[in-house]
Order: sequence, then structure tokens, then C-alpha cells
Amino acid sequence: MQVKDVAKSFFENGKEFKVLDLVRFDLSERDFVCVVGPSGSGKSTLLRIIVGLEKPTAGEVLFEGEPIRADNPQVAMVFQSFALFPWLSVEQNVELGLEAKGTPLEERRKIARKFIDAVGLTGFEDAFPRELSGGMKQRVGIARALAIEPLLLCMDEPFSSLDPLTAQNLRDEILQLWTNPDLPPKAVLMVTHAIEEAVYMADRVIVLSSRPGRMIAELEIDLPRPRNRKEPEFYGWVDEIYSLIV
Ligand code: ADP
Ligand code: MG
Repeated sequence: MQVKDVAKSFFENGKEFKVLDLVRFDLSERDFVCVVGPSGSGKSTLLRIIVGLEKPTAGEVLFEGEPIRADNPQVAMVFQSFALFPWLSVEQNVELGLEAKGTPLEERRKIARKFIDAVGLTGFEDAFPRELSGGMKQRVGIARALAIEPLLLCMDEPFSSLDPLTAQNLRDEILQLWTNPDLPPKAVLMVTHAIEEAVYMADRVIVLSSRPGRMIAELEIDLPRPRNRKEPEFYGWVDEIYSLIV
């Protein structure tokens, strides 16, 4: 995927309100990239542009050489707010993207169960979102995204509405899933305001300035995995990114 000089402005009463400017980076197979930036730096807007839900004011996003389209089944999204349908069961929520793709019922069941199992929710297929904790809801969100077997998984602050312990467990599980070559996706793009989280998870971190979000840096995080927050090399990276933003 190529993000080519993307800029975005919103217009209110004829007044321009610039949120993103000159964002450019590439994503290739096996990339795990985090975009970090302060609140309001346009991270969610950037992700919406990348998945084709919003048009950039300037620049473009190419996916496998073609302009990205919102109905591209190769790209899936996980939301901060989980975005589950409360009247659908876990399994039905996970099947949604497959239904949209026209996958037959039997096949849908099979795939949904595989990914419900992958995120550790076996036994909860028939539960409704209101019966689940925040962490379990986000597992459903992740299973739903993986179920369409996307090449690119996009996540918008997926852990920021979870308590710290649940968030950390889920981070580790995502990294675990990521190392399994039999599971999609081929690349992950996550946005977050949490610098530590980005250094913990990503191979590459893209740092955005505060509004309008401009690219300040693109850093290769070459720390071995599993990463240890207590090591000087770890907080060295965290400090460096802090000093870039503040
Ligand atoms: P982040 O995710 O980094 O916190 P957002 O992308 O949500 O930032 O928003 C960046 C800025 O753009 C914010 O100031 C927000 O109010 C503004 N914004 C986002 N969406 C719209 C919209 N549809 N219309 C007008 N302003 C918007
Ligand atoms: Mg946001």
C-alpha cells in the first residue's frame, strides 16, 4: 500500500481546517507499522482515508497499485469502540463481513468459528455483546476483521478503551496471532496516541505532529521480541519519540 502525499482539510463556513498534510509512507508484506500522534493529529482521519471511507483533499492511497476503495475485501478495520451490533450474537457479528462478501452460510459458520477460536472466545459463539467484557468485545472486533482474511489489518486505537491489564493481554495475543503464518493478514497498520504501545508492537513507527498531522519521523524499531519495557533500549525509543512530539 502506498500513501502518497495525503492531505486533508475540513471546511466549515468557508473556513479551511487542515487536519493532515503531506503524509507519505509505504506498507509492504510483513510490515507491522504504528502511526503515533497526539489526540487530534488526524490519526483516525488518516485511517479512514487509507481504508477508502474518506477522500483525501490532496494526494492518494494506492492498494496493490490501484486507488483504494471502501468495499475492498482485502482491508479490514478494528475500531476503538468495538462497533459491534448489539442485537447480533458473537458468531453473527463475526460473520458480517463474510455475508457482505457473499460467502455461503455453511462456509461462513466454519470460518467464523475458526477465528472465534483464534481469539480465545470458543464457547461464546451465541453470546450477545452486552454479556461480554470490554476485552471480549474487542476480541470479537478482531475476529470479525480477521474473518474476511484481509491482506491488510487496520486498527484505530484498539486497546485504548480497555483497562491496562486487559489491554496488555490483548496486545500480546495480537502479536502472537501475527507470528502465525497460517493466519491473515500480511500487514498491520495501527494508529495510537500511546507511544509505549507503538514501541512495544511495531517494527516501524511513523510519528505525526499535532494538528495538522505532518510526518515528523519514520523510525525502525529494531528491538528483539518479545520486548521488555524495563530495558533501557526500550524506553530510549519511547523517550526519543516523546521528544519529537513535545
Ligand atoms: P485523532 O484520531 O488523531 O485524535 P481525528 O482524525 O479524529 O484525530 O481528528 C483530527 C481533527 O479533525 C480533529 O480536530 C477533529 O475535530 C477534526 N475532524 C475529524 N473529522 C471531522 C469531520 N468529519 N468534520 C470536521 N472536522 C473533523
Ligand atoms: Mg482517533
